Amino acid sequence: MTFKDLHLDAKILKAVAEQNYTTPTPIQEKTIPLVVDGIDVIGCAQTGTGKTAAFALPILNRLIPQQNALKGNKKIKALIVSPTRELAIQIEENFKTYSTYTNLRTTSIYGGMAMDPQIDILTKGVDVLVATPGRLLDLHKRDLINLDFIQVLVLDEADMMLDMGFIDDVKKIAKLCPSQRQTLLFSATMPPKIESLANELLNEPERVSVSVISSAAKTISQELYLVPKPKKIELCLHLLRNDLRGNIIIFRRTKFGVDKLEETLLKNKYKVDTIHGDKTQAARTKALNKFKNNDVNILIATDVAARGIDIPNLDIVINFDLPNIPEGYVHRIGRTGRAGKEGRALSFCSADEKPYLKDIQQLIGKLIPVEENHPYPLDPKAKPEVHKKQGSKYKKGRKSEASKAKKKRWY
Ligand code: AMP
Repeated sequence: MTFKDLHLDAKILKAVAEQNYTTPTPIQEKTIPLVVDGIDVIGCAQTGTGKTAAFALPILNRLIPQQNALKGNKKIKALIVSPTRELAIQIEENFKTYSTYTNLRTTSIYGGMAMDPQIDILTKGVDVLVATPGRLLDLHKRDLINLDFIQVLVLDEADMMLDMGFIDDVKKIAKLCPSQRQTLLFSATMPPKIESLANELLNEPERVSVSVISSAAKTISQELYLVPKPKKIELCLHLLRNDLRGNIIIFRRTKFGVDKLEETLLKNKYKVDTIHGDKTQAARTKALNKFKNNDVNILIATDVAARGIDIPNLDIVINFDLPNIPEGYVHRIGRTGRAGKEGRALSFCSADEKPYLKDIQQLIGKLIPVEENHPYPLDPKAKPEVHKKQGSKYKKGRKSEASKAKKKRWY
């Protein structure tokens, strides 16, 4: 199948061709015809599968015949709700790229940035609005956003919105949109709460899915390093010195861990930047741009800050700490091996993280091959090292850790 077979407007096809997309990805092949037909869609797909174009192209296609309203009279006709600022910016960029040859206008609004410039752009009139839930509701409350003309509502990364506690906001937003609308919901995983959200907000939806695991696993080589916790930094330095080349993202579970590793790598003269929840939006965008422009080749990040971000040309993912939620592993390694490129995912596992490893391997349905040839092997009989600060947390296990994480935002 080619993009031409999807009966999209020539202006869109031209922009797509300029991106060197030759064939639609599986999620695009399945989703675009449904969206063009006005059908509600539940899409089970993660970032990296081409899902943004899967909804952006048919939405633009629908809006092109309405594109010529005078700028100030433009009404918001498509609303994309995204959990994070970074993802919102990325979706906005995609819409802008695909609508290069149209008069359609897209903007994004998100927290952590001054409102005035966002309000200015909104007042000038946009066709497509990408927004994080909090800022959207805030501006709506101030009567600065009119959602009465929404034709298509997209809920992107719905499971992440659930994890971040945005579900009630999402429901409020849906209520503010006309009931006669098309609704698309995308989620990497489909926990029961997302199923019931979809039942509540979508009208006779069609389901499309691309397997998260197989799409991630095909082109990614996964390696497991069993290593004592205090030796992880040395192992990381050893691998950086001797083995790893290219653009690398290193995941840590906490902001503290991110900062600590950054300090060590900077001392060792590596070009590094970080992304985590304590950084201002401007600092996070700057870090991401430095990485995209190859000014730094190592980015250290926490999960939530990095999820959904599309970083082209990512060669290696290092799970310096294993994620305590198994789906996190799939999200993290999905950062590499995009669009058929080869990628590598290295995971460091200390004795106390073995329960997490078990959950991850159960989820992906296979054992991650153990890399034994490294200088800091873990004694197979090693008991979990009790970390002074975090010992009690680890002992209490996953549930209490998850509830703690909810109480205190540590990402
Ligand atoms: P997404 O899942 O939307 O974040 O997209 C992941 C990456 O795939 C982005 O860098 C897109 O530019 C790229 N992409 C999207 N569709 C295609 C396609 N049909 N062919 C090649 N690359 C694509």
